[in-house]
Amino acid sequence: FSDFAFEARIAAQSLADSLGGLARPTLRLGVTGLSRSGKTVFITALVHALLRGARLPVFRAYAQGRIRKVTLEHQPDDAVPRFAYEEHLAALSGPDRRWPESTSRIAELRVVIEYESATSWRSGPRTLTLDIVDYPGEWLLDLSLLDKSYAEWAAEAVAACRSPGRLEGSQPFLDALAALDPFKPAGEDAARRLSELFRQALKAARVEPLSFSALPPGRFLMPGDLEGSPALTFSPLDLPPGAEPPAGSLAATMARRYEAYRSHVVRPFFRDHFARLDRQIVLVDAMAALNAGPAAVSDLEKALDDVLLSFRTGRNTMLSSLLSPRIDRVLFAATKADHLHHTSHDRLEKVLALLVDRARRRAEGLGARADVVAIASIRATREAQVRQGRDELAAIVGTPLAGEVIGGERFDGTAEAAVFPGELPEDAAKALAEAGVADYGLRFVRFRPPSVATGPDGQAGVLPHIRLDRTLEYLLGDRLT
Ligand code: GDP
Repeated sequence: FSDFAFEARIAAQSLADSLGGLARPTLRLGVTGLSRSGKTVFITALVHALLRGARLPVFRAYAQGRIRKVTLEHQPDDAVPRFAYEEHLAALSGPDRRWPESTSRIAELRVVIEYESATSWRSGPRTLTLDIVDYPGEWLLDLSLLDKSYAEWAAEAVAACRSPGRLEGSQPFLDALAALDPFKPAGEDAARRLSELFRQALKAARVEPLSFSALPPGRFLMPGDLEGSPALTFSPLDLPPGAEPPAGSLAATMARRYEAYRSHVVRPFFRDHFARLDRQIVLVDAMAALNAGPAAVSDLEKALDDVLLSFRTGRNTMLSSLLSPRIDRVLFAATKADHLHHTSHDRLEKVLALLVDRARRRAEGLGARADVVAIASIRATREAQVRQGRDELAAIVGTPLAGEVIGGERFDGTAEAAVFPGELPEDAAKALAEAGVADYGLRFVRFRPPSVATGPDGQAGVLPHIRLDRTLEYLLGDRLT
């Protein structure tokens, strides 16, 4: 359908949202980040802190005792799965203390916050409805496909497969391409085989342990509900520039499926979810990237840049930008800061600030505020001083996951260990430049979630965190005054 119709639908949706918002102030908060960046843990911790309380001195509405009541309500969008908060919390706080199942598709949760206004407390309680929308960051990369024809995308994707870093993993796909004539008719089997080989090439391009690919289509690796669906059986082809594929040819079939993917997958996601967000937090596992080396760092930087580019694509549509002054704050958060001693938390923030510098300026150019923070949604470690010979060394202590090996010792998931976490350098540029080369001692031990006391009602009590309160203040604070 036409761009105008598409924009008109976005505009109608945002008008409906605004009218609904007049009756009841609502904030739609997007939580995204690449696979394993910590989205599920973050949302679970945030909701738990609101529902059950936590130590949140910087979150003013809470610290001033103005939050009266927080409840979970039915979400507005019936077609979207609910974020499985209770299940995730049970995994974290149950007897075997497991990290919850990670995000693989979109999910939503509605939290209603009743609060006392800071300025006019006599006027009685007010209500803010917070709709949290959790979605894989990989899907944002797809927004770049909105204004690319099949031929343009295919040329780019094939060139990327041939680039030095990806050539080896893409070879089976490239060999299959070379053996086919794209202008001859081809059966379903050939299309399916090619798309599977292309998916394997994307998969091979992922830089462990970040496990994402900076190449769209996002659903090839993070299919969500489209797992095994025919919407994903296409691939790029090696086409001569300007060629017109004859009807019924393999190239025509692939182009048609690409169009179907754009109109049935990418556009609806953009229109129904992304374009309706008011605020966005982007979670980043910066330490995993630093540990993995320069390729991982530059891939991460590129992916973050693309993610931010999608915010602009989101606003470029003229009608929608006139009618919906959407996303006004973006927060980039480096997660899992509990793997570092607190002296390095500010340094981790600086590293992230540098990584997202371009992206951040772009967001600000669009009239959105952007900031960075280093957090641990759930703190799995505590700090301690450990004596080694004459020296007192700063260590972090936690329970390593079963199977983790530290200094030759294999852990079974029950014993605690003290780890010297190492330090990030003061100079963030140096940290990035030396990623994977210098040993900052960022040893990556994975810890189990902390054990938490249960309240009198049998539910998990307060969860420890790092800077979750600062995050809440930035994302919600001004809406609770
Ligand atoms: P998602 O794919 O973005 O939903 O990522 P998850 O929220 O499932 O997190 C992936 C993994 O990162 C978890 O299984 C944990 O091992 C780890 N993780 C996430 N958040 C934290 C945190 O705050 N502290 C620690 N120590 N580990 C975390």
